[in-house]
Amino acid sequence: MSALFQNYARRPVHIVEGKGTIVYDNEGKRYLDFTSGIAVCTLGHAHPAIVQALQQQSEKLWHISNLFESPEQEKLAAALVKDLPLAYAFFCNSGAEANEAAIKLARKHTGKHHIIVFEQSFHGRTFGAMSATGQDKVRNGFGPLVEQFTTLPFNDVAALEAAIDDTVAAIMLEPIQGEGGINVVTPEFAEAIQKICDKHDILLIVDEVQTGIGRTGTRFAFEQTALKPDIVSMAKGLGGGFPIGGILGSAKLFDTFTAGTHGTTFGGNPLAVAVAQTIIEHVFDDVFLQQVQAKSAYLQEQLQQAFTDEKFAVQGKGLMLGLYCGGEDVADYVTQLEQAGLLVVQAGPKVIRLLPPLIVSEAEIDEAVAILDKIINEL
Ligand SMILES: *Cc1c(COP(=O)(O)O)cnc(C)c1O
Repeated sequence: MSALFQNYARRPVHIVEGKGTIVYDNEGKRYLDFTSGIAVCTLGHAHPAIVQALQQQSEKLWHISNLFESPEQEKLAAALVKDLPLAYAFFCNSGAEANEAAIKLARKHTGKHHIIVFEQSFHGRTFGAMSATGQDKVRNGFGPLVEQFTTLPFNDVAALEAAIDDTVAAIMLEPIQGEGGINVVTPEFAEAIQKICDKHDILLIVDEVQTGIGRTGTRFAFEQTALKPDIVSMAKGLGGGFPIGGILGSAKLFDTFTAGTHGTTFGGNPLAVAVAQTIIEHVFDDVFLQQVQAKSAYLQEQLQQAFTDEKFAVQGKGLMLGLYCGGEDVADYVTQLEQAGLLVVQAGPKVIRLLPPLIVSEAEIDEAVAILDKIINEL
């Protein structure tokens, strides 16, 4: 008997410890963790620098709230927006909350309420974020949604152009749809979105909750596209396992979030900020990001070599990659891979998502691809 709601289809594995890319279950069995807790454990498990940051901060101050000034939040905000077309940050605790802030900011700034979103998108489980999510399985059963979200097909320029009128406050997208199947925004679509936003004075919200913080080989994934967001939401990888989320906004939005308009008790908590600052100092570094790109190229190469049948496709960027297995449901593979010592997560029913920590080694990539090869090509 469980005293938990059964709202997760949990796998019957109890992970108790981890170091880098490797985790162990309660029976001492070793696994390669190519989930990173769903793109969260940026620097792997128990990275000494974040352990130290958390320990040191935990002896000084855990919480004081946003009633008081925070030079630590200021420093983290400045590090996040440095050299980007973004100027200000707001911190919260999760991806859904970050998207709530983004939606509220866009509505308040424009005085309009209509937001264009895309099929197969995922923006979170709170009412605003859920209403923005283009998947019935997320939205069904909860009654009336927040109004004025229009869901369009992803990467369809004609459909987007046809939907634009002067009621539109914002366009909101993930540069690579994570939960929806590792669907990458096409260069044509990114260009069309940016052109439309510029021409019609529409705000652009880029949800980087999964793609951000080095996951795709650059600080944020939008940097590899024509997109120039007014608002970027982030969470998952920002805390490396400590809950923190946030948004970054462009300079013109400054006067919209004035005192009392938005907030959260825990947002930018000293523990979370200490960890996130350490993560950013490691990840927002050209050498580190080049290494992520090199590891990505290596992993893609190894996958191409192992999966030569043309039914397979490797999708994604950086260390956010998907292996499409010819349209079959991959749930059984995920279970078999786990038994063989490789943890992965699905992206939709048909794609095996590979999200190793950004510190994964080539030897660990070799080991993971060997397991993928054995299980998928032999099953
Ligand atoms: C995970 C995710 C969210 C929701 O984040 P939570 O922290 O679970 O609320 C939002 N957007 C994207 C793109 C995500 O991958």
